[in-house]
Amino acid sequence: MSRPAWRERIEAARAQREAASRVRVRRSVTLRDGARCLVEGRSLLNFCGNDYLGLSQHFGVVGALQDAASREGAGGVGSHLVCGHHQLHDALEREVADWLGTPRALLFGSGYLANLAVVQALLGDEDVCVQDRLNHASLIDAARLAGCRLRRYPHADAEGAIRQLRSLPEGAAMLATDGVFSMDGDIAPLRELALVARVQKALLYVDDAHGVGVVGPDGRGSVAASKLGVADVPLQLATLGKALGGYGAVVAGDADLIQHLSETARSYIYTTALPPAQAAASLAAVKLARAEHWRRTKLDELVGRFRERAQRAGLELMDSQTAIQPVICGDDDTALAMAAGLEQAGYWVAAIRPPTVPEGRARLRVTLSALHGVADVDGLVDAMAKARERIRLGLVETVR
Ligand code: PMP
Repeated sequence: MSRPAWRERIEAARAQREAASRVRVRRSVTLRDGARCLVEGRSLLNFCGNDYLGLSQHFGVVGALQDAASREGAGGVGSHLVCGHHQLHDALEREVADWLGTPRALLFGSGYLANLAVVQALLGDEDVCVQDRLNHASLIDAARLAGCRLRRYPHADAEGAIRQLRSLPEGAAMLATDGVFSMDGDIAPLRELALVARVQKALLYVDDAHGVGVVGPDGRGSVAASKLGVADVPLQLATLGKALGGYGAVVAGDADLIQHLSETARSYIYTTALPPAQAAASLAAVKLARAEHWRRTKLDELVGRFRERAQRAGLELMDSQTAIQPVICGDDDTALAMAAGLEQAGYWVAAIRPPTVPEGRARLRVTLSALHGVADVDGLVDAMAKARERIRLGLVETVR
């Protein structure tokens, strides 16, 4: 019997990834203890997670999850508009709205689902989603799935955004940008973009998955850091899976828009609500993120120290002041060999390659956390410098 065409197709795609050395692997973690984790039996210091404030293991957060689970059970039981909407979901939405200074907030299963929701619920076939070229994949997918037109402008280029918006009819466009860019770590020029959106009468949406909790006053994110409010940024995304250490996401903003999302967004309506216990954990995490400023202060100090030491060691950094600190390696093989060398030395750092980042800009994406110590950061930079030297001297086989 002939082999089905779909099998031929996926095998050809796999062969192509292999030939380009772009096979994606996942690894199993068995234990987490602070920034340390056990990966396939080896203890590694994790420099590739998003637990920026170290809240995922906080006893108050874990305790809230356990308490709520023992009362409410493990599951969400139903979708929000049927029977899954729990008081704990409400309490979390109110807490996040209060924190970010918006009239309302709406809880989603994940940041990915929230981005699908916002674009699908607000844009139709005739509308246009204007996006930064480096926006997260979920925003790009959102525009594709919504069936609207997608136009992209060069990274962080407000002039480019104007050019894309200028010719469009009033009210037909959304201007969507990451707040903190996930692969570069820089912050979008939100004040300029807000001005562009106001002049062009576009709705500005900020995906602040990597900003909320980490940057801005009281960790209120890049919108607040840019001194903007709901009048300029009617909707913004905060995920609960990164600085807040849990799972899920919240879209915060204008009350009418939030109401519209809750009644029309397909990825809100047709999915099971998050377990209430998860909402309880995030509620505890938000309260900690608001109150414990020392976590951000410590993170900022670690970022400063990492940058200073890395620059002194001659490593190529990008213009980022956030917890995401890419170290540019150039070609894919060097990035992979650096990551392998670091793992040998006990550090887990992700090598990020095209198509996630542009060709020739393969990098180590170092992420820092309040769980790290000064000695961890110093050790990482030393190990990076050593790994790079070994590669330079040809002492390391590049990984192919
Ligand atoms: N937006 C950005 C900028 C992200 O980096 C991510 C996660 N990598 C998401 C959205 C998706 O969020 P979640 O992980 O909660 O689905």
